[in-house]
Amino acid sequence: MNELVINEKIEKMGTECEQELRDIFSKLDELAYFNTKKVLNAFKKHRVSEVHFNGSTGYGYDDVGRQVIEDVYKEIFKAEDALVRIQFVNGTHALSAALFGCTYPGKTLFSITGQPYDTLCETIGITNNSMSLMSYGVKYKQIELINNEFDEEKIIQTLQSDDISTVFIGRSRGYSTRASLTISKIEKIISKIKEVSPSTVVMVDNCYGEFVEDREPVEVGADIMAGSLIKNLGGGICRTGGYIVGREDLVKRAAERLTAPGIGKECGATLGENRNILQGLFLAPQSVKNAVKSAIFTARLLEKMGYVVSPKSTEERTDIIQSIEFGEADKLIKFIQGVQAASPVDSFVVPMPWAMPGYTDEVIMAAGTFISGASIELSADAPIKPPYLAYMQGGLTYESAKLAILNAISNVGEN
Ligand SMILES: *Cc1c(COP(=O)(O)O)cnc(C)c1O
Repeated sequence: MNELVINEKIEKMGTECEQELRDIFSKLDELAYFNTKKVLNAFKKHRVSEVHFNGSTGYGYDDVGRQVIEDVYKEIFKAEDALVRIQFVNGTHALSAALFGCTYPGKTLFSITGQPYDTLCETIGITNNSMSLMSYGVKYKQIELINNEFDEEKIIQTLQSDDISTVFIGRSRGYSTRASLTISKIEKIISKIKEVSPSTVVMVDNCYGEFVEDREPVEVGADIMAGSLIKNLGGGICRTGGYIVGREDLVKRAAERLTAPGIGKECGATLGENRNILQGLFLAPQSVKNAVKSAIFTARLLEKMGYVVSPKSTEERTDIIQSIEFGEADKLIKFIQGVQAASPVDSFVVPMPWAMPGYTDEVIMAAGTFISGASIELSADAPIKPPYLAYMQGGLTYESAKLAILNAISNVGEN
């Protein structure tokens, strides 16, 4: 197949969807405007300049570009300190350093959003690992959300009865079936937590959430948060890395975990990536807007065709993830293949379900991205198991993501 194959009827439905979504899309324009202003003001205040694009080598002492990046992050996220480094290999690594920075042997890490994102299970020790937090004597406890809300009563009870040093909140649902948690919900629960136990540290996994709302967890009371630079904040430009922002003492501890005790933030060559980090951050409000628009467009089109989607097209959002229930393996596979076929990179590749290490079911993935595995770029993946859910995220440009969705759903055929 040399060109996109888009069913005319489906394309027309797409146009109808856009008409219906006009008000929602225009709110997203306002949000991107607001977040761009935040970014631009931070660049201006910290006098970002050509000189900051020159990277360092070797130890990376006195890297002025790295310093300005961390100042800009501090500003945007209203945090005391920031650690933004290409030495973080992914989001899990940044989250792991943050977790090591804000937990203590003998005291309890308490997740109030159920089980954290899959990859953090070994970091914490929920899945056995001899280098996990639990192997160093950190205790761990978790409770589930009830009806997708924080279980306030149980949270307060536990804070009063147990020796909780740290509360963990996952903002995004990741690839679970629970709902994601909006900033206003996170704000309310943090203020309750601080009321009962002012010294308890609150940490937020902010992956997929950045710039989807007009506020971020640290400015509503979280002590520390972390995420990936190949997701929202990299804007599709940044080639690797992760970030941590928050309270100065906690960011310092996390930095000593990333590098070595005594080295902390002082070292870390930037190798010419500073320009990409800054340009990616500059573009991020726009890239995130395009990703969210693409997700909402997908939700509306597939709702129209009779599919169950989550979140729904009119629901409030706090991350860029969209799930679609296909009900049968064949349709799911055709959808993922249709996304890949409309990707800018590797459009000729046909993804197949495979037994990926670490997963119990076979998994199929579409990721025709410029940066390997970057999920701010349009990507979709799915475990092959009922109810045959596809998880889709990203879209650097709305138009390309729209084309990919139309191509993918045309590939599936009528429901
Ligand atoms: C992506 C993600 C992570 C970290 O995953 P990496 O693949 O290591 O970057 C953690 N939590 C959530 C909710 C995520 O979406």
